[in-house]
Amino acid sequence: MEDWQEGEIVDNKKWTNNLASLFIKADIKPHQAGQFTRLGLIINNHFVSRSYSYASAPNDDLLEIIYIGIPDGIFSSKLLELKKGDKISLMRKAIGYFTLDEIPNGKNLWMLATGTALGVFLSILKTESPWNRFEKIILIHGVRRSEELIYENLIENLKNGHPKQLIYFSCVTRSGNKKHFNYRIPQGLKLKDFERSSKIKINNDSQFMICGNPEMIKDTTEVLRVMGLQKNRRVKPGNITVERYWV
Ligand code: NAP
Repeated sequence: MEDWQEGEIVDNKKWTNNLASLFIKADIKPHQAGQFTRLGLIINNHFVSRSYSYASAPNDDLLEIIYIGIPDGIFSSKLLELKKGDKISLMRKAIGYFTLDEIPNGKNLWMLATGTALGVFLSILKTESPWNRFEKIILIHGVRRSEELIYENLIENLKNGHPKQLIYFSCVTRSGNKKHFNYRIPQGLKLKDFERSSKIKINNDSQFMICGNPEMIKDTTEVLRVMGLQKNRRVKPGNITVERYWV
């Protein structure tokens, strides 16, 4: 049985008309960076809940979730309406295994995200562990339009804090702009553009964490398999660890 706790909305920051970050105050057990929770609301007299990864680090004062309003989505359209002081249910204990504890050692850590999945990597990057464990971290965010490249200030701060370690690339697929790669993430891997631009070779010393659009995960995993990397499983450690955001 899920154990629910009531939280209070502190802010519902809109990045675009359907992309937002929810800040929640709640007395729950601290999560591990990379884990997710379920949010719950009463909608038409029924309790409805959905899973969301934490974008906040375990030590942050407020819990933070990035979400997108899905057209006709009964839950996410209600999230967009929430305002300061409103109440929301969330799980007392976070769940999930997309955490650094599950990632084998390696030289470089590649973090590949589309859309709102960026949040799970921000949570991890706000902790000490990735910087202590990996020489270089390559964060790649793929979005449809450049206005969806959110948290640029936070990423800039992380780069300033770890200038020799963090490399950030953006892929924008539906609005051309020379500042970004203008194709999907698997294409950049296939063309070896990310390796060339980062001056980092992808090999058995590379660990990949991939989160976001299920088709992106499938296509990216396939490209990496062709490059000789294997899925990471508890029984058979490998280089590719994935988290599906929706099915
Ligand atoms: P998205 O469709 O996931 O696109 C984000 C980026 O991923 C785009 O650059 C897109 O490229 C790329 N992409 C799509 N398929 C790919 C593939 N097979 N390989 C590599 N890259 C791929 O867009 P979004 O704005 O984050 O979300 C849009 C819709 O996703 C929402 O309206 C909703 O339906 C769904 N969604 C659902 C949930 C959920 O929890 N249920 C959460 C987030 C999003 P292209 O522009 O070339 O397609």
